[in-house]
Amino acid sequence: MTNETAHVDKEPAANPAIPANFIEVIINEDIKTGKYGNRVHTRFPPEPNGYLHIGHAKSICLNFGLALKYGGKCNLRFDDTNPTKEDVEYVDSIQEDVKWLGFDWDDRKYYASDYFEKIYEYTVELIKKGKAYVCDLSAEETRQYRGTLTEPGKESPYRSRTVEENLDLFEKMRAGEFAEGSRVLRAKIDMASPNLNMRDPVLYRIIRTTHHRTGDAWCIYPMYDYAHPISDSIEGVTHSICTLEFEDHRPLYDWTLEALGIYQCQQIEFARLNLTNTIMSKRYLRRLVEEGYVSSWDDPRMPTISGLRRRGFTPESLRDFCDRIGVAKSNSTVDVALLEHCIREDLNTKAPRVMAVLKPLKLIIDNYPAGQVEELVAENNPENPDMGSRTIPFSREIYIEQDDFMENPPKKYFRLAPGTEVRLKQAYIIKCEQVVKDEQTGEIVEVHCSYDPDTKSGSGTANRKVKGVLHWVSAAHAVKAVVRLYDYLLLNQEVEEGEAAKDFVDTLNPNSLEVLADCLVEPSIKTAQVGSRFQFMRHGYFSLDRDSTADMPAFNRIVSLKDSWAKLEKK
Ligand code: ATP
Ligand code: MG
Repeated sequence: MTNETAHVDKEPAANPAIPANFIEVIINEDIKTGKYGNRVHTRFPPEPNGYLHIGHAKSICLNFGLALKYGGKCNLRFDDTNPTKEDVEYVDSIQEDVKWLGFDWDDRKYYASDYFEKIYEYTVELIKKGKAYVCDLSAEETRQYRGTLTEPGKESPYRSRTVEENLDLFEKMRAGEFAEGSRVLRAKIDMASPNLNMRDPVLYRIIRTTHHRTGDAWCIYPMYDYAHPISDSIEGVTHSICTLEFEDHRPLYDWTLEALGIYQCQQIEFARLNLTNTIMSKRYLRRLVEEGYVSSWDDPRMPTISGLRRRGFTPESLRDFCDRIGVAKSNSTVDVALLEHCIREDLNTKAPRVMAVLKPLKLIIDNYPAGQVEELVAENNPENPDMGSRTIPFSREIYIEQDDFMENPPKKYFRLAPGTEVRLKQAYIIKCEQVVKDEQTGEIVEVHCSYDPDTKSGSGTANRKVKGVLHWVSAAHAVKAVVRLYDYLLLNQEVEEGEAAKDFVDTLNPNSLEVLADCLVEPSIKTAQVGSRFQFMRHGYFSLDRDSTADMPAFNRIVSLKDSWAKLEKK
C-alpha cells in the first residue's frame, strides 16, 4: 500500500533554483526586512458549514505548504462565528480531510469561538475609544443609508450616541435584552468612503441560535470580517492568506487591528480555484446533497475532498495537482482534465493491473479440455516490477467484453470477429469459429472459438503476431461485481458561481452515474480491502467502495485511461 500521510519534502524557497510564487516573494521580503523576525505563521480557516472541496485543498496545500517550506507553523482554525449554519459533523470531516491530505496542525487546533470573550473585551475598548456604536436602524434602513458605489452613504442617527450609552447598550445586547435583528454594533469609520466595506460596517449582530460549541452562552456574534483579523492577531499569524473576493475587505482588516492597537498581521489574497464542469461553493454542494441530486457529501461525483477520496483519488495526486496549478493573482478556470492526469500519473506505478469484464459475453474454447484449469502467471504492474506477480486461472469457458466481438466488423477492427484471430491477454491465440444467437431475439449469446496450444504467452513456440489483445475472465473463477462509471456532474464546462449559478441544477448531467451490475473480475481481487485501487486493463482505474458486501464487491471508476490532458500538452 502507499504511504498516504507522507509529506513531500520541499526545498526552502530561498533556493534561487525554485521560482517563488508572488506570496513567497512577499514572505522572502518580510524575512529580509525582519518584519516578523524570521517567523512564517499561516492558518487554514474553514467555516464548519459544509464539507471541504478541492478549492479548499488548494488553500490547505498553500498554507500548510508554506509553513513546511519555511520551517514555520500553520494553524487549523474553525471560523465558527455563525451558529445558524455550523455543525460538529463538519468540524469532524474537516479534520479528517486535512489529515488525509497529509498535513498536521500539531496542537494548534483553534476555534474563533474560543476568542468570543476576548473579542468582546476588545470591543468594549473599541467603544471606549469612540470607534464603535450601537445602531438601531433596521436591516432595510441600513441598506438605504449605505449608499452605492457612486453615491456616498448617510450617517446613521445613532452614530452620535455617547460612549456611556453605547457601553450600556452593548452590555444589554450581550445580556439578551433585545430581540434578534433589532440592534447591531457598528464600526465608526467613514460613510463617504469609496469602499463600501468601510461605511460603518456591522461588527456584531444578535443571533438567538444555539452554537455548536458555546451553546447558549452568547446571543451576540462578531461578523467574519471583524473576528478574522482579531483571531489572526491573537494567534500571531504573520501572513493571512485568503481568496481574491476579500481584497476589498483588506482595509477593514487593517483598520480593525490598528483601531484596537493589537499585533498586526497582513492579509494576502490569491485567486480561488475554479474547475471546468464543477461547481464548488459549499452552499451549492449542500443543495446537491439536501435535494438528493447526489447520495451524500462524499458521493464519488462530488468535488469534495471526501468525495474524491471515496472515488479513489490519492492525497499525492491532489497535492501534485495543487502544486501544478500554482498560485496566481487573477481568477481563472482550470481544466478538470489536469486533475485526471495527476491521478493517472500517480496510479500508473502504484495500481496493480487486473482483468475485469464490464459487459460480459460468453466465449467457449471448444478444443480446450473440459475441467482443465491452468494457473497463468501475470505481472502485477509492468511499470513497477517490485509489485511482483499473481496467477490467473484459465479454463475452457471464459467471458470477454461484448464490445470486443462483432459479427460484421468494419475495416480495421482488430478485435474478435468470425474467422479472425486475437490473443487473450497472458494466455493463447484464439480463433472465432462460430456464433450462437438467441433464437427469438437474435442476440449473440455465445461465441465459440478454437485455441492454438503452441501460442501460450511467454512460452509458446508459435508466437505469431496478432493485432488484437483482449482481456477476459474465467467463467468458473470470476468474481461478480458492481461497477459504477462516473461522468462530470455538470454539462457546462464553464460554471459561473455567484448569482448566476442559482439555476445550476438545470445543467446537471443526467448521465453522471452509470451502474453496471453484471461485471466479472478476476479472482485475485477477492482479498482487496475497501479503498484499494486497481487498473482494470483497457478500462481505467477503479477503487473498491465501502458499499461492497461479502459477495458483491462494488468498484468506482476513478478515471478512464484516455488522457485528454497529455494530448493537450503535446499540442
Ligand atoms: P465556499 O464558498 O465554498 O463556502 P468559503 O470561502 O466560504 O468557500 P471557507 O470555509 O470560508 O469557505 O474557506 C476556508 C479557506 O479556504 C478560506 O481561506 C478560503 O479562502 C479558501 N477557499 C475556499 N474556496 C476556495 C477555492 N475555490 N480555491 C482556493 N481557496 C479556497
Ligand atoms: Mg463561506
